[in-house]
Amino acid sequence: MKSDSSFKESAAHSPRLTRHQQAVLDLLHQQTDALPAQELYSLLRQRQAIGLATVYRALETLKLRGLIKSRMGANGEAFYSLVVSDQHYLTCLQCGQSFPLDPCPVQELETHLQPSVPFKIYYHTLEFFGLCEPCVQSID
Ligand SMILES: [Zn+2]
Ligand SMILES: [Zn+2]
Repeated sequence: MKSDSSFKESAAHSPRLTRHQQAVLDLLHQQTDALPAQELYSLLRQRQAIGLATVYRALETLKLRGLIKSRMGANGEAFYSLVVSDQHYLTCLQCGQSFPLDPCPVQELETHLQPSVPFKIYYHTLEFFGLCEPCVQSID
């Protein structure tokens, strides 16, 4: 019988992930920025044979398990990253840059919301859209 101790260090490795799901998760662990699926796909392809459809399926499964999250960029493309902590952004509609907002402006809301709804909250995002300073200048 297999002992549990072999899994001790891997809190991030949730049970029953497929090899491909684990590969996608491992790759996201190594990223500092959120990446679109296409980019994750080309990074994975450098290491192993994997299809784009498989990458999309793995991303979807990981997302439903609360291990990763996706965020829409200004161009409508989804950017994937680990669920490490909640993130908050100011996103520029012109250049597409996102500027993190710290600290969390709505943590208290989540803390109060969780016990009052029949719903397991994994994380939240908060994003404001507009123009960054250089883009405001360039438009004037
Ligand atoms: Zn901008
Ligand atoms: Zn927050």
